[in-house]
Amino acid sequence: MNISITNKQSQQQNSQPRVAVSACLLGQRVRYDGNQKQHAFVCLQLQKWLILEAICPEVEIGMGVPRPPIKLIEVAGRIKAVGVEQAGLDVTRQLNRYGHNTAQQLSDLDAYIFKARSPSCGLTSTPIKHSDGSSKKGAGLYAAQIIKQLPLLPVVEESRLETIAQQVNFLQRLAAHRRWRLFVNQALGWSELLQFHQVNSFSLMAHGNEGLRCLNTWLSEHSKNGRISKSHLQLYGQQYMIQFSRQASRRRHVRVLVNIARLLRPVVSEKQYDGLFSLIDLFERADKSLYSVISQLKKYQERARLPELEGQSYLDLDAEMWSWAYKKQ
Ligand code: SF4
Repeated sequence: MNISITNKQSQQQNSQPRVAVSACLLGQRVRYDGNQKQHAFVCLQLQKWLILEAICPEVEIGMGVPRPPIKLIEVAGRIKAVGVEQAGLDVTRQLNRYGHNTAQQLSDLDAYIFKARSPSCGLTSTPIKHSDGSSKKGAGLYAAQIIKQLPLLPVVEESRLETIAQQVNFLQRLAAHRRWRLFVNQALGWSELLQFHQVNSFSLMAHGNEGLRCLNTWLSEHSKNGRISKSHLQLYGQQYMIQFSRQASRRRHVRVLVNIARLLRPVVSEKQYDGLFSLIDLFERADKSLYSVISQLKKYQERARLPELEGQSYLDLDAEMWSWAYKKQ
């Protein structure tokens, strides 16, 4: 593994989210032909805010650069990584083992960005040839081990980081996972989980009402029944991360903003209240950014300190990446 950290990042290492990236996407010349596949969003934007950890599984298993290219084939229900031109080359066992071992060292990771279509790193786009001549698409061998062992980890192929909506959704999933990961590392009971849910309720709402309702119902049914168990936490964590994988649309943001503005009604003047709704209208018509509306709500909350809004992750604009992301929305 090769750690890539800027000077600014190294000073803030403990507080920066940590993301693993297929090394070729970071511009490292590790592809089978000695080339790289530098990705602009990852290298120009994400590098500013996150600790990026470069991993090339094919180099790590000792294949070297340059190396003979490999492909995936399915034989008797098993996926194998074999040489494209070099008969007899089979690195199935090495890639599976390296993926299995690496996943165990990545439990404090916040997300993973994989190179699409790679027989090692692809997530859903890698061609897999069947011995009968048919083909399908699936995961590379290394990536399959990572997602099997770290099922809550936000993962994405670089080909799904092209639009602003995809990029912002990835940042939201990453931040949500980081909050969850830091939370489950503490000693926990139902009251802490209910508190976690409460401070994330508006962020969850921005990704759809139905998922939030399901989590609310599940919590109210289970939190009355004695001690919290590991499986309770696993179930909540799964549903929480599924919710953040849903796109937060403008319409959904408007619903959240209106709800927060209504809570602030008793602590702002009539003029300020009307001003908030005018701002939300402008955001709905895409004439104002999400950042400007959240900043205004946050300003009022900092004065009012309403308990319902205290610590809400939706109002947390501290990280520089939110100013970039929400000024574009
Ligand atoms: Fe290495 Fe994965 Fe990039 Fe291939 S796709 S060069 S295995 S990091």
